[in-house]
Amino acid sequence: MQLANQVALVTGGSRGIGRAICLVLARAAATVVASARSQEQLAALAEEARAQGLPGRVVPRAVDVTSRSACEELVESVAQEFSRIDILVNNAGITRDGMLMNMDDAQFEDVLTANLRSVFWLTRAASRYMVRARSGRIINISSVSGIMGNAGQCNYAASKAGVIGFSKSVAKELARRNITCNVVAPGFITTDMTDVLPENIKERYRQLIPCQQFGEPADVAEAVLYLASPQARYVTGQVLAVDGGLSM
Ligand code: NAP
Repeated sequence: MQLANQVALVTGGSRGIGRAICLVLARAAATVVASARSQEQLAALAEEARAQGLPGRVVPRAVDVTSRSACEELVESVAQEFSRIDILVNNAGITRDGMLMNMDDAQFEDVLTANLRSVFWLTRAASRYMVRARSGRIINISSVSGIMGNAGQCNYAASKAGVIGFSKSVAKELARRNITCNVVAPGFITTDMTDVLPENIKERYRQLIPCQQFGEPADVAEAVLYLASPQARYVTGQVLAVDGGLSM
């Protein structure tokens, strides 16, 4: 019950890692506003939290984070309805892989907007409430690609490296206001995002991971819970890789 009475906003909550984050935060008794584009999947998640009898609850909000105004309205609506935003988890993300020489502008821009600009818009809007409350937790989901780079992902790696630089800067700006900003960098996690990869590529990745297995969404969610918890009050500006040792 460590997040009782706290309000969390989680983007990309409908599937994969974001869905697991919503359930873990609701397990810790937070009120979790879960956003993504698919209202249907969000409603199913809210129902699942109820069915599991979790002490917190999941509130669905269908939003496309590639729109600045939609991001700002999302934060305003949460602040108005609950009068607070204690935790922001910027998790929504996409891939549009391709080799540099074949990558068109839209492929690059779309990934930058979904994965990095959205983080800027949401963090800027939410930080105004956190600064007023002199308290807050911002957790941004990057990737090992943003740390190590990855062939075929120059757009994605640029966006995820950007999330790391952004988060460290925000951490420095907001530390004196009792607001932490940290990054979780997942390695290879079993979700829709990675299911699309051909088996031979998956096998190649598996061999590169020291613990020789892919992670589960819950592995990432537990790291987010720690960073959102009171126990992590003295941790800020850090990048926590949840990757079976891949990036070490
Ligand atoms: P996923 O299964 O593809 O889920 C992506 C989530 O983001 C969905 O909830 C999706 O919901 C939402 N989303 C995508 N575009 C959106 C938009 N324009 N507006 C609002 N929501 C949007 O991906 P995942 O594997 O869980 O990844 C979650 C995060 O972890 C991402 O930032 C990803 O880059 C990062 N990550 C994943 C892995 C991995 O191995 N899986 C590794 C490293 C980092 P809708 O489609 O309903 O909008």
